[in-house]
Amino acid sequence: MKENTLVLNKDERLGDGEVSCAEPVPSSSTIAAIVTSLGGPPGAVGIVRLSGPSAVSIAGEVFRPMSRKRRKGVRWWPNSHVVEYGEVLDSHGNVIDEVLVVPMLAPKSYTREDVIELQCHGSEVCLRRVLRACLDAGARLAEPDEFTIRAFLNGRLDLSQAENVGKLVTSKSMAAADAALADLQGGFSFMVKSLRAQCIELLTEIEARLDFDDEMPPLDINLVTDRIHKMLQEVDGALETANYDKLLQSGVQIAIVGRPNVGKSSLLNAWSKTLSLYGHFSTMPDHVTSSLCFPGVERSEAVAMGADVIVMTVSAAEGWTSEDDRLLERIHSNKIATSSTSPVVLVVNKIDFASSCAWVDTLSRSFRKYVFTCAVTGKGISNLESAVVELVGLNKIPAGGRKWTVNQRQCEQLVRAREAFVRLQASIEEEIPLDFWTIDLREAAMALAQISGEDISEEVLSNIFGKFCIGK
Ligand code: GDP
Repeated sequence: MKENTLVLNKDERLGDGEVSCAEPVPSSSTIAAIVTSLGGPPGAVGIVRLSGPSAVSIAGEVFRPMSRKRRKGVRWWPNSHVVEYGEVLDSHGNVIDEVLVVPMLAPKSYTREDVIELQCHGSEVCLRRVLRACLDAGARLAEPDEFTIRAFLNGRLDLSQAENVGKLVTSKSMAAADAALADLQGGFSFMVKSLRAQCIELLTEIEARLDFDDEMPPLDINLVTDRIHKMLQEVDGALETANYDKLLQSGVQIAIVGRPNVGKSSLLNAWSKTLSLYGHFSTMPDHVTSSLCFPGVERSEAVAMGADVIVMTVSAAEGWTSEDDRLLERIHSNKIATSSTSPVVLVVNKIDFASSCAWVDTLSRSFRKYVFTCAVTGKGISNLESAVVELVGLNKIPAGGRKWTVNQRQCEQLVRAREAFVRLQASIEEEIPLDFWTIDLREAAMALAQISGEDISEEVLSNIFGKFCIGK
């Protein structure tokens, strides 16, 4: 952030103490980082990214195109968005990798600066050597999130979209990735921008009446009330997605408990083969495996109590046994001891063995739901999944076909905007003078601007971006 000073031109409408990031801020430095992941098994290809005013000249220092041998002294100049094949040389002129160069010249790039990506071989050695060559040629190692910070400061992304870059990169399930992508493409951001624009429009109309009362037609109170009601509805709809966001980020932990041989492992196997599962649950197989629970194994039982849903499995072949009774009793007493509110689902597995299971009816009060399965054929697994999805509330949200979700920070600001709208409704109803309405409208507009980053303090920004990782 050192060279990316925030623009401090305050928006007059929005009061003191906060900064606005309206204008692009040209950076003086060119940053470089490995933007693909390191640490795991190497991929075939890895990427070193350069961004900044000297990205082209630095790339020109380290890159030698294969197609046209460059004459000494002639500057390399890429065509934007045209890939070139060549070699990377270190500061001694030794070839250190063969690469594809992807030039994205300003403003058509992620950061709106000149960006050059070097697609190297994916080993850590190759990537670190190419990065070293770029640093030796004058680039500076990027700080965590610095590419995204530049994208935000240069107006390429608003703050909520920038936050969703972080979510997308770290998403562990399709649903989490979809939600992040939906906002990255503007869903929530558009809504926030539109709400803020409506607040400012209303504010303008009211202030005009305060200043030039005689020359203006009277304010249509019904219209104003209607608009505020609609804005409130939109805010409420967005707030509904907050719980869903929490589930998407943390995943759903499911504990499968039951006597030996009832089919817990088979159930897990059958379940983890169904694709939709991964749509909802992050790192699902790990969580479930780690929570497979056998009676008498205390540690597993402790894990089960911490799960979001407990799936107690019994066998239809043997029916409900005294051992199942004891296990259920222990689940209930453990739940009381740990104040756990996790719902318990009964799975009657091996249903292929039994023509009827009338005894299940007598147990219905002990379980939130029950499902019949045959883990060998996969029968009933989708019902089990639906039951779990419903119990954790994943089926309800997001309402209104929304895909995006709001995070904790955005939620706080939406609540602030909501409270301002509610106060405003009361002021209108009680016929309180117009000056007071403007206070609440300003407050709502300010809260919305905090979400998009149009009006945000440096402290909040560094808090947000501090959570991201190097290479973004
Ligand atoms: P766990 O000890 O509870 O994990 O039980 P397993 O998953 O190891 O299953 C025990 C045995 O029951 C294995 O031989 C499975 O193939 C078999 N099994 C599991 N589920 C079913 C089922 O729904 N129907 C039938 N017929 N056999 C099953």
